[in-house]
Amino acid sequence: MKPFAYARASERADATAQAANNATYIAGGTNLLDLMKLEVMTPDKLVDINRLDLSEITVTDDGGLRIGALVTNSDCAADARVRSDYPVLSRAILAGASGQLRNKATTGGNLCQRTRCYYFYDTAMPCNKREPGSGCQALAGFNRIHAILGASDACIATYPGDMAVAMTALDAQIEIENVDGEIRQVPIQDFHVLPGDNPERDNILEAGELITAVILPPPIEGKHIYRKVRDRASYAFALCSVAAVVEMDGDTIASAALAFGGLAHKPWRDAAVETLLTGEKPSSALFGRAADQLLAEAEGYGHNDFKIPLTRRVLISVLQEATGTGAAT
Ligand SMILES: Cc1cc2nc3c(=O)[nH]c(=O)nc-3n(C[C@H](O)[C@H](O)[C@H](O)COP(=O)(O)OP(=O)(O)OC[C@H]3O[C@@H](n4cnc5c(N)ncnc54)[C@H](O)[C@@H]3O)c2cc1C
Ligand code: SF4
Repeated sequence: MKPFAYARASERADATAQAANNATYIAGGTNLLDLMKLEVMTPDKLVDINRLDLSEITVTDDGGLRIGALVTNSDCAADARVRSDYPVLSRAILAGASGQLRNKATTGGNLCQRTRCYYFYDTAMPCNKREPGSGCQALAGFNRIHAILGASDACIATYPGDMAVAMTALDAQIEIENVDGEIRQVPIQDFHVLPGDNPERDNILEAGELITAVILPPPIEGKHIYRKVRDRASYAFALCSVAAVVEMDGDTIASAALAFGGLAHKPWRDAAVETLLTGEKPSSALFGRAADQLLAEAEGYGHNDFKIPLTRRVLISVLQEATGTGAAT
């Protein structure tokens, strides 16, 4: 590991001021330290934010929840309000990592975790995300876990997290503080970015910007489902995941919020799929059309071709469960 400076911040302004050139925040450290040990990330300085006052979950004025950036994944998943009002979020977090990791992993760190592309982790291989302009080994290499939606010729990596997929279905906002102390809120759909020509960039954070919280809107009615398909029952990232909040009005779908993990460089949401379902009576034909819409632009790269039919089946199965027209699995 390359030498680095280390500083603890006790105030937010102190943290953002210290996070100058090539400095990186450390929260739980569960992703960052692995990347530093492999010299995939080589920050000159770590700014430890664990003493900042960002570990609370509070109710917002409009009845939503404000989850501080340092709330651990374990505490968030176990929170009584999250479990009762946003069960899709609780289930998504519990589908990720392990108990030990979730005890350390934080809300802000989880949002910013980096891709699990094998070539990104292997410094002997070309990778545009690690070293811009060096090439992408995954395009013609082993790309089983890679994207089928929204990829580019520069990068076909996926965003690996579960928590953010559920937050995307819930229309969460990310609260961010910059080095001047200004605070902005960004819809989570706009937080992570597609790779385009600049895959080195995972999200919209500018240098020194600190995630301070995730804001959930007031709870939405409906059935909350998080379905994650992976190679092992635990301790594995999603090949495909679906977060769904579906409300029925009698035998009609009143609303459907759907987000997908493991498919793209960011949690994926397609408004056209939701529009297609809304106001309709559940049927196999309808669910098939929803899958057609979702996967119209899907493209496999060889080893990951299986994700296209897999995603189709997972979506149809989730919709059957959510609308009470098929067996829960
Ligand atoms: C073996 C293993 C299995 C895993 N399985 C899963 C899984 O199935 N699903 C899943 O979702 N995750 C999984 N994870 C990832 C895990 O959830 C993340 O490592 C964790 O959530 C990162 O949080 P952290 O607080 O440790 O972040 P850190 O490692 O401390 O930081 C990660 C990044 O976030 C930045 N950062 C942290 N906090 C802030 C902030 N407030 N503002 C701005 N930037 C910030 C850091 O600078 C760093 O770049 C797994 C990890 C491991 C090691
Ligand atoms: S898919 Fe992206 S992260 Fe993986 S090797 Fe290609 S450029 Fe790097």
